[in-house]
Amino acid sequence: MDNKTQGQLLEEQLLMKKQNGAEILSDEEIAKADAFCEGYKKFLKYAKTERGAVTETVKILKQHGYEELDPDKKYEAGDKVYQINRGKAICFATIGTRPIKEGVRMVASHIDSPRLDLKPNPLYEEAEMALFKTHYYGGIRKYQWTAIPLALHGIVVKKGGEVVDVSIGEEPGEPIFVITDLLPHLSQNQNQRTLADGIRGEELNILIGSRAFKDDKASSKVKLAIAKILFDKYGMVESDFQAADLQYVPAFEPADVGFDRSMIGAYGHDDKVCAYTSLMAAVEAPNPEYTHVTVLADKEEVGSPGATGMGSSYFVNFVSDLAKPYGVDGYTVMSNTKCLSADVNAAFDPTFADVYERNNSCYINYGAVVTKYTGARGKNGCNDSTAEFMGFVRDCFDAEGVLWQTGELGKVDQGGGGTVAVEVSKHNADVVDIGVPVLSMHAPFEVVSKIDTYMTYRAFKAFLK
Ligand code: MN
Ligand code: MN
Repeated sequence: MDNKTQGQLLEEQLLMKKQNGAEILSDEEIAKADAFCEGYKKFLKYAKTERGAVTETVKILKQHGYEELDPDKKYEAGDKVYQINRGKAICFATIGTRPIKEGVRMVASHIDSPRLDLKPNPLYEEAEMALFKTHYYGGIRKYQWTAIPLALHGIVVKKGGEVVDVSIGEEPGEPIFVITDLLPHLSQNQNQRTLADGIRGEELNILIGSRAFKDDKASSKVKLAIAKILFDKYGMVESDFQAADLQYVPAFEPADVGFDRSMIGAYGHDDKVCAYTSLMAAVEAPNPEYTHVTVLADKEEVGSPGATGMGSSYFVNFVSDLAKPYGVDGYTVMSNTKCLSADVNAAFDPTFADVYERNNSCYINYGAVVTKYTGARGKNGCNDSTAEFMGFVRDCFDAEGVLWQTGELGKVDQGGGGTVAVEVSKHNADVVDIGVPVLSMHAPFEVVSKIDTYMTYRAFKAFLK
């Protein structure tokens, strides 16, 4: 016989109770989360850049019977199509049984992550060392990028148009690269700088070689020796850097974190953790009622500009191409569309507790985090989902037993951020942010919980059902 007091009973009836997945989920469910994350770790190892993520995504799509979109074809329920945008973004869809004019279920994440791009004229020699000049991409804390192993990724377009793929530093036995930093013995002056200024943009120079080309007359002989290696390996010359997308990313591999292996440490969780979870949820929902469209976008980390960012019309054009054979306009579809903007949020960090507001932060192991609004200084630049749409997603997740929580990005006046939600909302679609809580966001090695990653995948499945 239960001897609960009236207060206890009222508590249960009226008050919200946040629940830690590690405590309330069955061992079987936690084992499923762990198994799911093994696939994610494999994906992420090769999906560090947006181009890498597109390549890995297409492999998975093809395994599940997706074909390249033919814009002139009329697609029927159950058909599966994808379209790549410039090798840096991708949209894919599974056609549903309902008429497309009733809208689609869209999940949009981004596959670019903060990193160091090469400048158009990067190669130089100083003090008989060869180095690359970089220009950082996205919001990085520069001091975190020195003295760690870095890998090089990207493409070079040679004169005449031949494209060469570059990837060095990921496979065992390959060389890696590094940005040097001062030793503590000589850092007295540097120590007086603010943390933001501790390492400056023009100090993010990558060490790439130190052996001179043996020749009595040539100058800049270390630079020359490196140029020769690049020519022998890729057939490229110095001016080819002008037509290249070359990026340095951390050379770390995804790894389990903690004695209990409950977390994953890796570069690029933001936002490949949402890209992968939305991808797997979509390919495992083969006969949907509403057509579902998944967008993996580029350029979010610099504000979603450019032809491959969500500010571009390509994802709406993709929807329009599906609707056109039915005599339906893209804007009609978008106006009836429900969208999850799939992106990470900052998990509460006890070491830096003062930047978070405890009641409205997200916590690791408490499930997928729904973020009603982002923005900074009074919700500036936010989407702010409607109460109606919040109500819709809540019922949708609860019906499927998804563990989820809400979260704000830190204290009101502490800072802020944005996602692709605003870009989707410009097309008159309902949209809200949802994703995985992340520790050390935008650091070279970010941390997520396996339970949260799995629950975000389950949230997408519930939404696409
Ligand atoms: Mn993000
Ligand atoms: Mn980000």
